[in-house]
Amino acid sequence: MRNTRSRSFPVLMLTLAFFAGLIYFMVNLVTHASEWASMPYNGHLSDSTGLEYAGEIKDKNGVVLAYSKDGKRLYNEDEEIRRACLHVVGDDSVNISTAIQTMYRSDLSGYNFVFGLGMPDSLKKGGDITLTIDSEVQRAALRALGDYRGAAIVYNYKTGDILCLASTPTYDPMNKPEDIETNEAYEGAYLNRAVSATYAPGSTFKLVTAQAALEKDSEAYKREYDCTGGTEIGGREINCYEVSGHIDMFGALRESCNAYFAELTVELGRDAMTAQAQKCGFGKRWKFDGITTATSVYDVSKADENEFAWSGVGQYTVLECPMNMAIRTSAIANGGVCVIPELISKMDSSLADKLRSDGKSSPERMMSQQTAEKLKEMMDDTAANYYGKDYLCPELDICAKTGTAEISDDGTAHAWVTGFSTDEDCPLAFAVIVERGNSGYQVAIPAASAILSAAARSYRS
Ligand SMILES: [Zn+2]
Repeated sequence: MRNTRSRSFPVLMLTLAFFAGLIYFMVNLVTHASEWASMPYNGHLSDSTGLEYAGEIKDKNGVVLAYSKDGKRLYNEDEEIRRACLHVVGDDSVNISTAIQTMYRSDLSGYNFVFGLGMPDSLKKGGDITLTIDSEVQRAALRALGDYRGAAIVYNYKTGDILCLASTPTYDPMNKPEDIETNEAYEGAYLNRAVSATYAPGSTFKLVTAQAALEKDSEAYKREYDCTGGTEIGGREINCYEVSGHIDMFGALRESCNAYFAELTVELGRDAMTAQAQKCGFGKRWKFDGITTATSVYDVSKADENEFAWSGVGQYTVLECPMNMAIRTSAIANGGVCVIPELISKMDSSLADKLRSDGKSSPERMMSQQTAEKLKEMMDDTAANYYGKDYLCPELDICAKTGTAEISDDGTAHAWVTGFSTDEDCPLAFAVIVERGNSGYQVAIPAASAILSAAARSYRS
């Protein structure tokens, strides 16, 4: 009897361990099997894309951007649309990490728990996804950016719907260039610059510095200054683009006076500047629809006095993700509270819906309503009296700020413009970056203007 008991104990333990392992496996199978099945290194898919029976990806108007037919993944018949939407839709590979086809592969692939991916052909059909983008606005962005590298974002600052999320360089997912890895023209082509890149924000950052001043003192916009074309801070020069003469904060933003905002930065101090930058999304990654943006950086802890002064005009080591710029601009348009963007308007699967909402960022108050109103007045003044409202966009009433961010000593600069429309029927915030465009006014504004005109047509047609 004693012998039997001593032998049965290990058997009991082994049996328990077996069932514990089985339960663990079953739970994992149910929760993760669809992901395992569509992993690109799954041997069963080695000669396939896993997208042969995937559902459709459509734009806001129902234009089909990607679909599967006869065991093949196909894309919109218009090559320009294919290239314009590449970074949002993705291609057959998983190289573009923030693309819908990469992030929602298992949902699109038509994985079925009973049949796995080996489902009978007659039953195969993945879930469809409808996006918020308009492929015609994407086309306008592709044309507007031309041969430049860059990114364009336009989104509704009331609903969050992204109308345009474009990035260049791009390529045709149906005829992927063979020299993509070696040809310099395609460098960084897998990157969606709108959400995954960061750049010096240049003068667009003056909005953050102005915000810091207005949050401290609501009358700060009256601060006067005599610009002589530059000033000396920390023993070195801070130069202006022009001699602005006697100006207040309205004039300083309109003429983009570096000396004004550099001196204001030093007056405010590192703590106040850092705190406002953080309120405006610096130091944080935004999350929406499965996308996580690059982190924007404002760190003046090691800056000397002159470098700190430059940080307030968006130079020094300040870096910003284009999506962060669009989001902080949405807060100015929206009474101080930012709006979280959305790329997906409808999807079939509840599993994907969970992935979509996991960790999604929440709207935040970035500044007081009073400060937002004052910044809006200043951007309206800059647009009307310096850029020209028709030059910005004939179809919409735009408030804006440009930036020309120097990236090397030879004067090469990135060209930015950010802003928003005040039209009730088209409440759009935007940010456009043209790499090495050298002038926010001459290069970034015309690009943004063409995209915004297309956006107005999209809303009003
Ligand atoms: Zn100046």
